[in-house]
Amino acid sequence: MYSKELCWVNPYKLPFALTDALCQLIVSDEAIADAEKRLLRFAPFIKKYFPETEQDNGLIESPLKEIPQMKSALQDSYGFEIPGKLYLKMDSHLAIAGSVKARGGIYEVLKHAEDLCIAAGKISVTDNYEKLADPAIREFLSNYTVQVGSTGNLGMSIGIMSAALGFSVKIHMSADAKQWKKDLLRSKGVEVLEYSADYSKAVAEGRKNSDLDPTSYFIDDEKSIDLFIGYATAAKRLQKQLDDLSISVDKDHPLIVYIPAGVGGAPGGITYGLKRIFKDNVHCFFVETTTCPSVLIGLDTQTFEKANVRNYGISGQTEADGLACASPSGFVTRIMTNQVSGEFTVDDGKLYDYLRLLYNSENIQIEPSSCAAFAGPCGFTTYPQMAEYCVQHDLSPARLQNATQIVWATGGKMIPREIYDAYLNTYL
Ligand SMILES: *Cc1c(COP(=O)(O)O)cnc(C)c1O
Repeated sequence: MYSKELCWVNPYKLPFALTDALCQLIVSDEAIADAEKRLLRFAPFIKKYFPETEQDNGLIESPLKEIPQMKSALQDSYGFEIPGKLYLKMDSHLAIAGSVKARGGIYEVLKHAEDLCIAAGKISVTDNYEKLADPAIREFLSNYTVQVGSTGNLGMSIGIMSAALGFSVKIHMSADAKQWKKDLLRSKGVEVLEYSADYSKAVAEGRKNSDLDPTSYFIDDEKSIDLFIGYATAAKRLQKQLDDLSISVDKDHPLIVYIPAGVGGAPGGITYGLKRIFKDNVHCFFVETTTCPSVLIGLDTQTFEKANVRNYGISGQTEADGLACASPSGFVTRIMTNQVSGEFTVDDGKLYDYLRLLYNSENIQIEPSSCAAFAGPCGFTTYPQMAEYCVQHDLSPARLQNATQIVWATGGKMIPREIYDAYLNTYL
């Protein structure tokens, strides 16, 4: 079946003030602040174990980079104008895991380790967490297993951090997972189980396997609130980066953000955090591929986790391995129903076009899944529904000229050079 690129404006979106009370019941500001503190507690351990985080003092954070040449390249290639300034949020280059999963995935592993160690009296929150590198604590954590289902990047972030803490770890990889991601994990002593089925199946198998073992903890990408909170902590960090660049966000200076979606956890958590800070002045859009728009279907039909792209004659198969989730998270699609501005879908072939443009214009390497986000700034100015969205949201042309547009690059640093070279030569 041929699937066409589209733009979907969310008919269920509400002004932020109307969503606030309900959201606080589910994920409170306090819960996000608590997560921020937890990440600070772990910073000394992370700094010690992963020297690449030294310059950020053990915090795992990515640059926010203006990409004016890419903006020109997009305008020249496609013949339209992108208003405001275009930035790349380079989670593609996050330390340790090289993807946005270094936020949610790593956060949940850290939280689980802390919970176990505190319950067993091995650490207290006032300790210096460098202590977690002690052989005795690693030995203690080696009695526990962490498991997760993954299309690749979640497995990498959880596998690497779990192994660093001493946990046993099993990663259940779906058929979409790229071979180099499995090889890299195995080289770190992580057990990788492979399935010939899709992502939901890998998750179901992992969940089942883990439930049989009382010492095993399953990180559930389709349901986890801790993962979501880990992603949400990105918002405060971004706010600081905007402040440092003297970029205002207010009614006259809108912030427009585009994030690729798989099950929805990463873009949902980030959107949630951003809405709490910038409220109606931030406009968040998800991007999925035309062959796997599961979050879009879950939202539009309001059938949430019951939505499956195959029930609509859509294959679910895509070059964007990080987005290859045929069904979305029920929790995230519910919580995003009144917050996300809309979604753009993108053809697989365009992912490689954007990949080449970014490399040639800015010399930045990101993976195909990440490139989906560029459909955002392109679609924003071209779809007629967006003109209507702008009218409804008081986004006048003058205001749009003041906009900060952020393309969220969700993965890429770890791609082996020869694989990236093959991407540069892929034309679909
Ligand atoms: C996981 C991932 C996403 C989407 O995250 P979800 O939580 O599955 O929605 C986007 N891009 C890349 C590169 C990813 O690895």
